[in-house]
Amino acid sequence: MIPAGGGTPPPCPECHQIHLDVTPLLGPSAPDDWLAVSEGERLEAELTPDICILTDDGRTRHFVRGHIQLPVTDGYPPVFVWSVWVELDEESMGRVARSWSNPNRAAIPPIEGRLANELPYEHPTRGLAITVHTRDPGLVPLLMVSDAHALTIEQREGISIHRVAELGSRLQRQ
Ligand SMILES: [Zn+2]
Repeated sequence: MIPAGGGTPPPCPECHQIHLDVTPLLGPSAPDDWLAVSEGERLEAELTPDICILTDDGRTRHFVRGHIQLPVTDGYPPVFVWSVWVELDEESMGRVARSWSNPNRAAIPPIEGRLANELPYEHPTRGLAITVHTRDPGLVPLLMVSDAHALTIEQREGISIHRVAELGSRLQRQ
């Protein structure tokens, strides 16, 4: 293939179009259940770019944002990222909070949680088991999916640039 000049990506091997609108990172700005919280409850709740704490029927729920990385097998960008929220129990959230400003926080053991967002896949993604790996300060946690699901296969085996473009357009239609 002749390298394209001027930063134009090569045509997609699947549809032969040039995917100029591909976004390398996509995801909702809050856990899905944040939208279900009433105005009154929101006054008590907290939502930052990294942490969400909300009260749901008198129960306090804890969420942390992280990245699921899918390698892109045939194009640029090299990695596609789902930026999503994971629900943690109180004890796990305590461990994350205590280690937040620890410069060595990447060394803390992985934490188990549940995916708190629906993503545009055929089968539900909300509730999938997630292992949260904290990384160095400045990097959001890396999330690993292990349940039997298309997302797990894509995380392990990668996705095509065509699929990245498709996921982006499906998310916009949701
Ligand atoms: Zn394509």
